[in-house]
Amino acid sequence: MSHRYHPGMINLDEARKILLDAVSPRPVAEVPLWGARGRVLAIDVAADRDFPPTDRSAMDGYALRAADAAEAGTVLKPGGEVRAGQAVGETRVEPGHAVRIFTGAIVPPGADTVVMVEHTEETEAGVRFVHAVEPERNIRYRGEDRPAGAPVLAAGTPVGAAQIAALASVGCTTVPVHQAPRVAVLSTGDEIVDPAETPADHQVRNSNAAALVAQLQEMGLDGHYLGVAPDEPQGLGEALREGLSHDVLLITGGVSVGKYDLVGQALEQAGTEVLFHKVAMKPGKPVLAGRCGPCLVMGLPGNPVSTFTGFVTLVQPALRKMLGHADPFVGEIEAALDAPLRARGPRVTFHLAQLRQTAEGWHAAPVTNASSGDVLSLSGANGYVITPVGSAGAEAGERLPGLLWSPPGS
Ligand code: AMP
Ligand code: MG
Repeated sequence: MSHRYHPGMINLDEARKILLDAVSPRPVAEVPLWGARGRVLAIDVAADRDFPPTDRSAMDGYALRAADAAEAGTVLKPGGEVRAGQAVGETRVEPGHAVRIFTGAIVPPGADTVVMVEHTEETEAGVRFVHAVEPERNIRYRGEDRPAGAPVLAAGTPVGAAQIAALASVGCTTVPVHQAPRVAVLSTGDEIVDPAETPADHQVRNSNAAALVAQLQEMGLDGHYLGVAPDEPQGLGEALREGLSHDVLLITGGVSVGKYDLVGQALEQAGTEVLFHKVAMKPGKPVLAGRCGPCLVMGLPGNPVSTFTGFVTLVQPALRKMLGHADPFVGEIEAALDAPLRARGPRVTFHLAQLRQTAEGWHAAPVTNASSGDVLSLSGANGYVITPVGSAGAEAGERLPGLLWSPPGS
């Protein structure tokens, strides 16, 4: 069998480059405004009209000519009212008059200022202005937020609630975004049972698939869980065929070098071109990436901390590129260590940590985990601190690169 991939171990930067070169932003699809959250805009969006479209009152109060009440205590005649939702129609502000106006209402012709109601008094003779009135107050002028045609959102912008508000305001109700990839999640291992089962001593509940689906959800993606494939070529091959019909297939377990680690071989038999297999990182070394036609395949080692780390460090950047994000990498910070950290060996090491932001910057409390199989320790962390290749560790107070799992705005 011919191998076009790197037969040996490569470093994480190389692996990321290979992976990112192998994927591109997904084609453009139009999604309804209500379902656009989490996608990335594929086009520039402009204001469809002036914002605001006319001069509007920013207050409840009176619209008038400032010159008519230049002295404190002036009384003007009532001149009718305009409220939000009302076309201005016949209403004008005549000299010597004040028109009652409500927030959001069109400022009627003739007026050059609005006085808030709190600064007025109703009297027998009319409306009394407590203070000297100044022109051009409490009016939101036509086009002052954005004139018609001005850019509002640029292609590549992630759509969150704030962007949804802008899209709704400019009438963009079908939103051109990069199509979400269809992602399948397949677990492998004869010992793996559904979390709802009571496992025998030789069995392990499947935490990886549920965690991966949740990690996908945090990116706004649905994961299609395909169940658990056996450590046996035929059953594994069948499950892979189904998985490979997706845009992305995430596999857990079976990618190491053991006798029952059959995923690499089965993938090649199914026509997958392996891009790399083994990355000099800890945890997660045996990770595999491949392409089978249009499908990107990632084989993540089954130890729960390894699977999780493989997703954060490799899968997530690839998915972000596919989703159209300008930067595939998010959550990169620098944090001062609360406690010393030991590292050894020639691999970049991702240490579980509780990262917190303070006035002096980020701090990291390392979370001790017994091994990469220590799934329960994961839940005490919200990210990593990272020691580089060859590091022997770091002292308390030292600053290290960190990686947040769910950075704000991602
Ligand atoms: P593997 O990568 O298949 O050699 O698995 C490594 C370790 O991770 C083994 O101890 C497995 O029992 C465990 N493991 C594999 N898959 C899962 C999973 N889906 N959920 C929880 N643990 C797993
Ligand atoms: Mg296994």
